Amino acid sequence: MEVSFHTEIDSLKLGLGEEFHGEGILAVTKGLLQSGVSYVGGYQGAPVSHLLDVMVQAKPYMDELGVHVEACSNEASAAAMLGASIHYPVRGAVTWKSIVGTNVAADALSNLSSPGVTGGVLIVVGEDYGEGASVIQERTHAYALKSGMCLLDPRPELGQMVHMVEQGFQLSEASNMPVLMELRIRACHVRGSFVARDNQRPAISKQHLMQEPAAFDYMRLAHPPVTFVHEKRKSEERLPAARRFISEHKLNEHFEGREHKHLGMIVQGGIYNTLIRAMQQFGLADAFGESSLSILVLNVTYPLVPDELTAFCADKAAVLLLEEGQPEYIEQELALTLRRQGLPTPLHGKDMLPQGGEYTAEAMAQGLLKFLQKHQPALVPDDVAAWLQGNTARRQQVQQELGQPLPTRPPGMCIGCPERPVFSALKLAQQEVGPVHVSGDIGCHALATFEPFSVGHSILGYGMSLASRAGVSPLMKRRVLSVMGDGGFWHNGLLTGVQSALFNGDDAVLLIFKNGYTSATGTQDIISTPGEEAKADVKDKRQSLAHTNQTIESTLKGLGVQWLRTVHTYHVDEMKATLTEAFSTAFQGLKVIVAEGECQLERQRRIKPWLAALMARGERVERVKYGVDEDVCNGDHACIRLSGCPTLTLKDNPDPLKVDPVATVVDGCVGCGLCGANAHAATLCPSFYRAEVVQNPKWYERLWHGLQSSVVGLLQPGQAA
Ligand code: SF4
Ligand code: SF4
Repeated sequence: MEVSFHTEIDSLKLGLGEEFHGEGILAVTKGLLQSGVSYVGGYQGAPVSHLLDVMVQAKPYMDELGVHVEACSNEASAAAMLGASIHYPVRGAVTWKSIVGTNVAADALSNLSSPGVTGGVLIVVGEDYGEGASVIQERTHAYALKSGMCLLDPRPELGQMVHMVEQGFQLSEASNMPVLMELRIRACHVRGSFVARDNQRPAISKQHLMQEPAAFDYMRLAHPPVTFVHEKRKSEERLPAARRFISEHKLNEHFEGREHKHLGMIVQGGIYNTLIRAMQQFGLADAFGESSLSILVLNVTYPLVPDELTAFCADKAAVLLLEEGQPEYIEQELALTLRRQGLPTPLHGKDMLPQGGEYTAEAMAQGLLKFLQKHQPALVPDDVAAWLQGNTARRQQVQQELGQPLPTRPPGMCIGCPERPVFSALKLAQQEVGPVHVSGDIGCHALATFEPFSVGHSILGYGMSLASRAGVSPLMKRRVLSVMGDGGFWHNGLLTGVQSALFNGDDAVLLIFKNGYTSATGTQDIISTPGEEAKADVKDKRQSLAHTNQTIESTLKGLGVQWLRTVHTYHVDEMKATLTEAFSTAFQGLKVIVAEGECQLERQRRIKPWLAALMARGERVERVKYGVDEDVCNGDHACIRLSGCPTLTLKDNPDPLKVDPVATVVDGCVGCGLCGANAHAATLCPSFYRAEVVQNPKWYERLWHGLQSSVVGLLQPGQAA
């Protein structure tokens, strides 16, 4: 990874009384160190990648503190790492993206929750709904309920978030339950400050080793018959202990309303800021969060504390619960609690708010409007209803004018992405062999499901593409293609896919994108990442370095893969021929194509400072650009349908006699060469040209350029170059 986090690392070192400024996720990271964590692990994923990325880069400082940092191969290995806290009084934290990561980690989490923990355990998960969500929208809450783990959802204010990290470890130790902390994308990126405390050097650490292992204790194993005892303890001991701790340490916050305290809002901590924004539209809160209505902020959403809920609801004329995501676990429990206590307080929630999706300020305002209209209509200002109706009317008007809903703007691969040419080649190969079923996977290559490729029939999880074709390929006349990234290969694909296909002797085709990093999650390193030596050794940094690490190929050979081809992704012709061969060869076993081409994002990060240094030294720098000759372009746009590169686009036809726009390459082209390769492989029109832009040219190049300009000037008077 070429990104540097030295500023963030300096923030982690702040001591007692110093002021921390920065983002929420970094504040949480600092909170871990202030809590005396002994070990940290995880698997990267938005929006919590930053936690692990910074920790990994801060390794020298972590070593100094004695904190062990592990970049785990997947979420299951991260969750299993927490096993250290079952026997030993050591605090541990791991992180991943939920819900998908929690699904992968589920087995280890169940086996951790059953015996319970001695040292505090905190699992920081990124979770989001609506626009911020990049995965399936399911709730981690379900895991907290079923496995018996606490769930924190802190109010997005840095001081509060750090406080909840510190309290989270204590809660875990007081209840013996693992603790999850859920962070939405806004909480991770909210900026603010808090007064730091000194980082705690853990009592047991890499600097202070345990001398002996713990004594054998069957009660610490997730194994029958003791699992029956564990199950009893969950409800009879751990939950009551957790509730006691939450109540005694006031982890949930009660803000009494200034004027209308008889109306209550109960809100998950993570969406408190948005609620305040919505209330501001009604004049019921100010910019500092002072509210006219009473608010109970649930910084802990599981377990709920029945006494707290009933105490809050008892004197209220009505209560509105704002609970994002479905199903409405909190609302069901709250309704049950009120019923059991015989409290008649009217309770509203999903009856006034959307069942699923993100609770934006507008969605909350809609719910609040219904709530106030029912229970205190005098509090509804005229302009709020007009504002909400205006938003709806504007959307309807745009839709009417367009004749369809607003077009979506899906994300796409980066300019010059090495994965794009493979999908161009796949389009061409299918012209020869016919359409094939494509099992997709998680990663940048999943962006090929959008136009112009629209490739991929299913995505069943990270590293699952080969496994997910196992039921399709035996029933399909034509061979099925499974597409997987190197990140997915190491995360899960090697075992669930390759091993299974080899064991069963499956006739399958797997294409592995070997771009060198887990690019989609922020270009983190993996075991097949080009080494630092290779990066230092290579003279021309523009070279792709994917070939310098052969771990994937040697692993496949070691497992017994017999049909293995490595093809450079930009060689569209060769890739097309290799795909065609894989689909049609007489060989019946697993066929693997390693598509080699370094992630352009990482390559550019390496190239830019190198080019800048060459320029600063006055050395010759050559950059390649592609272009389209507008006089030759026939306007059929086949090149665009075969590429999808954002810098290959359209412009008005300069010929007044033609109406179709012509193709053009705009600024930003990184000269990856795909335009040329596609034009050749698909025998497109000859309108593409390749230009070399030379900065700090040699004397003979200047001379040659001068001569050329003079000749052109003579041949084209008035249009000299
Ligand atoms: S991050 Fe790398 S692999 Fe992903 S789209 Fe960009 S260039 Fe391609
Ligand atoms: S050469 Fe073509 S595909 Fe490559 S970056 Fe330039 S415009 Fe995009």
